Amino acid sequence: MPYTEVNPYNGKTIREFPNTTNSQLNEFLNQATIFYQKAQVQPVKEREILLERLADEFENHMEKYAQILTVNMGKLIGEARSEVKKNITFAHYYAENGSQLLKPQSSEILPNGNAQIEFSGTGIVLAIEPWNFPYTQVMRVFAPNFILGNPVVLKHASIVPGAAQAFQNACDNAGLPKGAFSNVFINYDQVNSIIADSRVQGIALTGSENAGKRIAATAGSYLKKTTLELGGTDIFAVLDDADIDRATTDAATARLSNAGQVCTSAKRYLVSDDIYDQFLLALKKKFSTYQVGDPLDEKTTLAPLSSKKAKVSLLEQVRMAISGGASLLYGDLESNETQGNEFSPLILTGMTPNNPMYDEELFGPVAQIYRVKSDNEIVTKANRSRHGLGGAIYTSDIERGKRLASRIATGQVAINHILSSQAGVPFGGIKDSGYGRELGHWGIYEFANIKAIIY
Ligand code: NAP
Repeated sequence: MPYTEVNPYNGKTIREFPNTTNSQLNEFLNQATIFYQKAQVQPVKEREILLERLADEFENHMEKYAQILTVNMGKLIGEARSEVKKNITFAHYYAENGSQLLKPQSSEILPNGNAQIEFSGTGIVLAIEPWNFPYTQVMRVFAPNFILGNPVVLKHASIVPGAAQAFQNACDNAGLPKGAFSNVFINYDQVNSIIADSRVQGIALTGSENAGKRIAATAGSYLKKTTLELGGTDIFAVLDDADIDRATTDAATARLSNAGQVCTSAKRYLVSDDIYDQFLLALKKKFSTYQVGDPLDEKTTLAPLSSKKAKVSLLEQVRMAISGGASLLYGDLESNETQGNEFSPLILTGMTPNNPMYDEELFGPVAQIYRVKSDNEIVTKANRSRHGLGGAIYTSDIERGKRLASRIATGQVAINHILSSQAGVPFGGIKDSGYGRELGHWGIYEFANIKAIIY
């Protein structure tokens, strides 16, 4: 089946990309191996310069790269520009810090000895990526591994071949060496054959739990290391002392940006009893200002979902949540049953642990709201989840926020901010949200050989 680029807003097919054949795939792996061997003896500085050139390529053609995101994946043009900017900051971070991060470290061994710790590449990394942030998800894996000297082979989500090809074109335009980055249009059998290949040493997957389980199982059978960045059911807690205006504005943005298709979207609002009514009223007002429409139109504030399949699945999940006992506090399910992929915001209440959707990720503009009576109840509700990705807390008492954040079982928690990834800060989850970390120095060591030379 060819990879087809479809505009999620109007359903029109833009282009078809033929599948990569097995012999082409083998040639890509050969080129990647040549890059790997050369990179092991090349000064890191040279790759830092090349990575800066890749950042410049995105910077100099920002509008072109942003439009490709909007047309292929459906995100708002403003959100697409922000994604290109973030992509650039990720590249800059590793270009500016690469040499320092890979500098050998010395460590004293008592009573009388020393160890030198060196960092080097291990081989090809296969990046399997989702469609929701088609550039930044790739850059998070590519930039640190390029600095390390690990080539990256990308298997992108089949609905964003236009964005995948654009990333390849950006690497080629920036003059990156052949084999450093190879986008391939492959099927699942070919993914498995890459995992089995001895030239490949790591697999970085971002996606659903189902994909995580399958890829990790295959990788495990070949003793290949994986990192898994999976889904979440993040909380957005609003404490009794929060700035309600700020919390409401951020609550809406944190649930509705990227049409709600973000792993760390605010999926469960936990709101203090004292301010619950006030918050809910303000939130409904905010939600009502969002306008679905053409994502290329600067006036549109809520993007369509990424595909028909995504819309059908979200509608089904909402119906199951309601038949499982939840009720709709805001929005109209029927008006969402229209032809296109637009989806107007909904707020659900009354979700209980026995609801079949209680612990499922609703990947779209559907919020859940809970009334809470204490900080302890926030911790209990937050942690009564098989996910452990992120979360946010709004309070005017930062120390109280930090104490609460420490008790929430996730990989990251933001206080008085919308949670979003930052170049120098580790990003990842625990429990069913996956394992391993991207970004910061943690991201560059995931597929490194951390070697001790003891003398
Ligand atoms: P998905 O269906 O799991 O797809 C992700 C990637 O895995 C795609 O490239 C997909 O290829 C591939 N894939 C799926 N099953 C596979 C298999 N059996 N063998 C080989 N490749 C396979 O997920 P999605 O719907 O694109 O993405 C949404 C999910 O990603 C959400 O759960 C979201 O929370 C999560 N996510 C997590 C993070 C994070 O950092 N934690 C960030 C963004 C998104 P095809 O497209 O060809 O099926």
